[in-house]
Amino acid sequence: EKELDNVAAARQYVQDVYETVIRRNPSESEFHQAVKEIVDSLVPVFAKHPKYMKAGILERIVEPERVISFRVPWVDDQGKVQVNRGFRVQFNSAIGPYKGGLRFHPSVNASIIKFLGFEQIFKNSLTGQPIGGGKGGSDFDPKGKSDNEIMRFTQSFMTELYKYIGPDEDVPAGDIGVGAREIGYMFGQYKRIRGGHEAGVLTGKSIAYGGSLTRTEATGFGAVYFVDEMLKSIGESFEGSTVVVSGSGNVSIYAIQKAQQFGAKVVACSDSNGYIYDPNGIDLETVKRLKEVERKRISEYVIDHPHATYHEGCTGIWTIPCDIALPCATQNEINEHSAKILVENGVKAIGEGANMPSTLEAIEVFLENKVLFGPAKAANAGGVAVSALEMSQNSMRYSWSFHEVDDKLHGIMKNIYRQSVAAAEEYGCSGNLVVGSNIAGFLRVADAMMLQGIV
Ligand code: GLU
Repeated sequence: EKELDNVAAARQYVQDVYETVIRRNPSESEFHQAVKEIVDSLVPVFAKHPKYMKAGILERIVEPERVISFRVPWVDDQGKVQVNRGFRVQFNSAIGPYKGGLRFHPSVNASIIKFLGFEQIFKNSLTGQPIGGGKGGSDFDPKGKSDNEIMRFTQSFMTELYKYIGPDEDVPAGDIGVGAREIGYMFGQYKRIRGGHEAGVLTGKSIAYGGSLTRTEATGFGAVYFVDEMLKSIGESFEGSTVVVSGSGNVSIYAIQKAQQFGAKVVACSDSNGYIYDPNGIDLETVKRLKEVERKRISEYVIDHPHATYHEGCTGIWTIPCDIALPCATQNEINEHSAKILVENGVKAIGEGANMPSTLEAIEVFLENKVLFGPAKAANAGGVAVSALEMSQNSMRYSWSFHEVDDKLHGIMKNIYRQSVAAAEEYGCSGNLVVGSNIAGFLRVADAMMLQGIV
């Protein structure tokens, strides 16, 4: 009976906190969605350990420590003044300096940055490394901009952001629209303003000036390592399987590469306009050339590969029958309808390479149908994990080899899998990695917060 009382109290507690979040952040639907997923997972934790309720851990964790919003003025190639909005959300620093990427995309607003920053708290905790949660970005659209425009914009962005970051305070990295080129320009500007080479202030740097080997590959490789662990648990593997990967950016490209190395046939990938289907298996060199070198659309893939087909639109990719689906594009790219089609077509495993690519309803469909489901916080943590390894190398003024970093990454992904399985088991949701990863990620942060008083 006592136990039932505790469960009821825990339910009421998370409901109250969730309602406060909605009231305080009106119309921020992505942020609400990310919070909803977490609070629902944590009911068994609060029921078992009321001390976290008493210490107000949840109401503190859903409120960012700091939200920074700023003007980013710049001049385009036509001489016209442009203004974008910049953001940095410093969400939680209980276990380390704020850590998380910068996203440059026209959809960026406070809701998107808060959902990403909130997810980052738990993801970073799962890696076992000393990194807190943060995220930033701008509604700047890099698509179609010249190299000079990218440089002027990123310099203006950093001219404001530098005040809030530092190797022990807040360490940004890339995300959608921010890769090695943008990080390079931002690092140059930061160094110039600060007058010192603080290598650890940004990650995802080129190896020419303090970057880490394997950082580029890390998110994609990590997602495949994670899915591989899930498959092993049912005696299966990538070998001989058919895989669909959405996106064609940094996460997708290296997820495709590792899946192919593990013996899978990857038959599709996409960009924001449409997807390509290649029944012979994607030729990754073509995708790399188009996206990494020429910065072109994925539709051009069919020029070199006439047996492949190009299809407009983003959701059609999920109608392709596959054993394993790796959504590596963006948030909410798999809705309930797409999830049902994937299930009807016999999908065995989902590994989320993007952040929050499945809606709450889609996740329900996968879990109800016993599809192996690797949630983003766990499955895509490889990127930030290697960012933390980059910080370690910068602190040591030393660099590890590709294989040293890759081995560490593989170990971290296995450990995240094991922790998530164990937490799900312990809290009565055996096999549910959404609940397991949320709980495991939460507990490390919550315990650190308990030790640091009400701050
Ligand atoms: N943007 C990546 C993520 O979503 C990487 C963040 C980082 O390396 O700090 O986790």
